[in-house]
Amino acid sequence: MNIIKSAWNYYCPKCRKGKIFTEPLVFSDPLAMPEECSVCGQKTNPEPGFYYGSMFLSYIMSGFLLLGSALLLVFFFDWSANQAMVFVLFLAALIYLKILRLSRSIWIHAVVKYDPESTKK
Ligand SMILES: [Zn+2]
Repeated sequence: MNIIKSAWNYYCPKCRKGKIFTEPLVFSDPLAMPEECSVCGQKTNPEPGFYYGSMFLSYIMSGFLLLGSALLLVFFFDWSANQAMVFVLFLAALIYLKILRLSRSIWIHAVVKYDPESTKK
């Protein structure tokens, strides 16, 4: 499995077999993570405040996506600004949970090295 597929599907960055989020998703706690990967034992929260930087990642991702689609609708498809705004709000609600988890997943994939041989000791 390549790193993009692994990050997109929230696999553990180290073994790419375990999952880093609790599934199925619970809406009251969308960021619930097990303490460690069930396959290789990689900690899902290596240090306090580890995911602080993923906030910027989700900000950038949603910014590009929402602003990009709004500009496209207004200048390319001749929507009014209000119509585009409504669309952007719907889109934001739709992608909110995906972006939330994906930013954390990408963040830990950027830090933890892939080690296919890793198993829990
Ligand atoms: Zn693992």
